[in-house]
Amino acid sequence: MNTVERAIDRLRQEWGARLFIPAHYYQDSAILRHADATGDSLELSRRTAAQRGAEKIVFCGVRFMAETADILKVPGQSVYMPDPAAGCPMADMATDSQAEACAKRLAPVWKGDWLPVVYVNSSAAIKAFCGRRGGSACTSSNAVRVFKWVLDSGKRILFLPDEHLGVNAAHDLGLPDSQVAVYDPLKPEGGLTDKALAGAKIVVWKGYCHVHRAFTAEHVLHARARHPAARVIVHPEAPKDVVRMCDFHGSTTQLIDYVRQAPDGSEIAIGTENHLVQRLAEEHAGRLSIHPLFPSTCPDMARTTPETLLAVLETWPAANRVQVSPELAAEARLCLARMLTL
Ligand code: SF4
Repeated sequence: MNTVERAIDRLRQEWGARLFIPAHYYQDSAILRHADATGDSLELSRRTAAQRGAEKIVFCGVRFMAETADILKVPGQSVYMPDPAAGCPMADMATDSQAEACAKRLAPVWKGDWLPVVYVNSSAAIKAFCGRRGGSACTSSNAVRVFKWVLDSGKRILFLPDEHLGVNAAHDLGLPDSQVAVYDPLKPEGGLTDKALAGAKIVVWKGYCHVHRAFTAEHVLHARARHPAARVIVHPEAPKDVVRMCDFHGSTTQLIDYVRQAPDGSEIAIGTENHLVQRLAEEHAGRLSIHPLFPSTCPDMARTTPETLLAVLETWPAANRVQVSPELAAEARLCLARMLTL
């Protein structure tokens, strides 16, 4: 154990149950060893919200996750990030003013018959946009269920900010491509004609996770040629053509479960963030043969280091605190609460 690890362990002991450290699956093992809970963004939100006795929460992940923890916190708790600059480029691809402009674009064609659905990988402002319009949040594991809830109510869907998760969930639901349109916030009118909007049941926002969009059809073909016995599995933030070529697609937790349940001797190529793929390969070494579909990493997730974690635990800098305004938090909480009832 090195001096930084020892110092973190000492501070964690001093704080005891008054400190809670959640860490996302995509964090490095050097961080995960200090975590009180490891999971995907939703699991961590749930686990964090259950820590009523914790005074300080230090979220090892990216900003939208820490914001969600702040939205769900109870009075007296405060949320920090080891590196407040750890953002999510995909979450940043949808701003509140762009979402409001999109709502205006939909209004003359869709009238009032639509609801927003937002991926939890979005800013607090986008969750608030969704909450005040009666929509729901979703995750990569329940997107299909949430889409079905809206469509069954006779309404259409604006999904943001990930085009690929939206397109893949619509496909899983059996919707033809002709009923899915892509809204580009950087184009006039979103790049959509009234006719295209009128024919769409789901409009997906043109945003993407660069980590998962990096996977290509060529990667899948290459993996199959190199490892003919391997199953190829991928996260649904990957483009649809890639997802359709794979043997399985699912959320981070579902991918982990797939690996855990694989029979001994299986070979698996995995298309998700590389820290997780490498850790799964280590955890199952000798039992399974695991390869990255392509070694794609998230630099924002990698901003959290043992050194930045230690620094926040030692000095609690105000600049590292994540605070969502009470007004935004109240609206954002609505769409998270709605998701949990579905
Ligand atoms: S992996 Fe993708 S969705 Fe997650 S934080 Fe990085 S860019 Fe954002």
